[in-house]
Amino acid sequence: MSESALLWFRRDLRLGDHSALLAAAERSDAVLGVFVLDERLLTASGQARRAFLADCLRALNHDLSGRFLVARGRPVDVLPRIADAVGAGAVCVSEDCAPYGRSRDDEVAEALAGRGVDFVRAGSPYAVTPGRLRKSDGSPYRVFTPFHRAWTAHGWCAPADTGPGTVRWLDPPRQFATAIPDEPAPDGVDLPAAGERAALMRWAAFRAGSLARYPDDRDRPDQPGSSRMSAYLKWGCVHPRTLLADLAAGGPGADSYRAELAWREFHADVLWHQPATARHNYDRRFDRFSHDSGATAEAAFDAWCAGRTGYPLVDAGMRQLLAEGWMHNRVRMVVASFLVKDLHLPWWRGARHFMRHLVDGDLASNQLNWQWVAGCGTDAPPYFRVFNPVVQGVKFDPDGDYVRRYVPELRAVAGKRVHEPWRLPDGPPQGYPLPIVEHAHEREEALARYGAITG
Ligand code: FAD
Repeated sequence: MSESALLWFRRDLRLGDHSALLAAAERSDAVLGVFVLDERLLTASGQARRAFLADCLRALNHDLSGRFLVARGRPVDVLPRIADAVGAGAVCVSEDCAPYGRSRDDEVAEALAGRGVDFVRAGSPYAVTPGRLRKSDGSPYRVFTPFHRAWTAHGWCAPADTGPGTVRWLDPPRQFATAIPDEPAPDGVDLPAAGERAALMRWAAFRAGSLARYPDDRDRPDQPGSSRMSAYLKWGCVHPRTLLADLAAGGPGADSYRAELAWREFHADVLWHQPATARHNYDRRFDRFSHDSGATAEAAFDAWCAGRTGYPLVDAGMRQLLAEGWMHNRVRMVVASFLVKDLHLPWWRGARHFMRHLVDGDLASNQLNWQWVAGCGTDAPPYFRVFNPVVQGVKFDPDGDYVRRYVPELRAVAGKRVHEPWRLPDGPPQGYPLPIVEHAHEREEALARYGAITG
């Protein structure tokens, strides 16, 4: 145990339940914690996510009593030099399962191998590492329900015991250090508290409060019924195994919450097997789908982004995204369906807009949920399932509280009438638009276009 080790943090910004930290401790009792600011990932991230990441790095730096090296550059250039400088025999990581991360890690592993330094992959941001589960014929899962069954049967390890004192943290060599960026949140966006402690506090509050009602309330955007753990899971401020261990105690809500975590794992598994689905239709028949284009389509896209479609639930969701860098899951489905099936625009344009604004923006969860709603993804929800934004509003925001919270022009409209402001005696209140399309008509149009490629 004479050499030191590097622990290269990426989507695992915590110290507890950390398999790669355990692997580093097995290599050496002297470990340097490193994060590399990689332009390639930062530019793809959007301001809200970059600001939250910077806050998470500050929290981790605090937890490491300042013994944390934040460097800047291409990991393949920077890491071998840092490893040389501290005499590290190994660089330990939690596996990255997304396409860029996988190829970057292969490159880094090769560069390190050339200098006799091991690249050790230990654990991943998932309870069951993507790529591990396969059907009995060896092929990957394409449908959630059997994946969920196999995932549950496979099970996962207990949380890794990596409390304080697991290793001795090394002082960072100054020549590689850069300041943690002072990245502000977008104007008016109130980001959640960052870091491991905040994640665990949020989880404890959810378990003690909303978890029991989660099966009923998780679909209600007007209620604080979901856990808001997604940004913490995205950056690994907590490992899903920690949550699953707590859920093992059972109780109301536990099964339902575990199933949602399984969706996260399913999408990561699909992306692992088919990296091209980050950009292309999972169901290639949809490559022939006819989308709208031209000035009217662009104006419709702009109205959707700004939350000015004239459909209150859609507009409330799109404005929540801009105001908080987050949107309720039910509303994500409704706005995605509206873009693809009412405006006939490609799913990847909406996915790109989401990735620019979401604090929890995650390639696997985002792209594959978009594809799921568009009907070209896994699970093949019938493509003819077109969300009606009014019916969804009345069902899941029955008193209209969610809409009124995010659409100030509609605050004077009481009750569920807020979901159809064009039916008010004087039409929509001043400043709020009429619907930019007629849902019933566009639904038929969408079905005709889907029929042309699937029938
Ligand atoms: P909860 O209801 O408390 O769920 C608990 C956890 O389960 C979530 O934090 C999340 O990690 C996971 N989860 C729940 N639902 C899903 C799901 N459908 N797919 C994958 N994981 C799920 N989630 C992201 O984390 N990042 C994204 O970029 C993202 N983009 C989405 C885009 C669209 C079009 C849709 C329909 C869904 C998207 N989701 C995404 C999934 C889901 O909307 C969010 O995970 C959820 O709203 C986060 O809030 P929460 O933590 O309160 O969720």
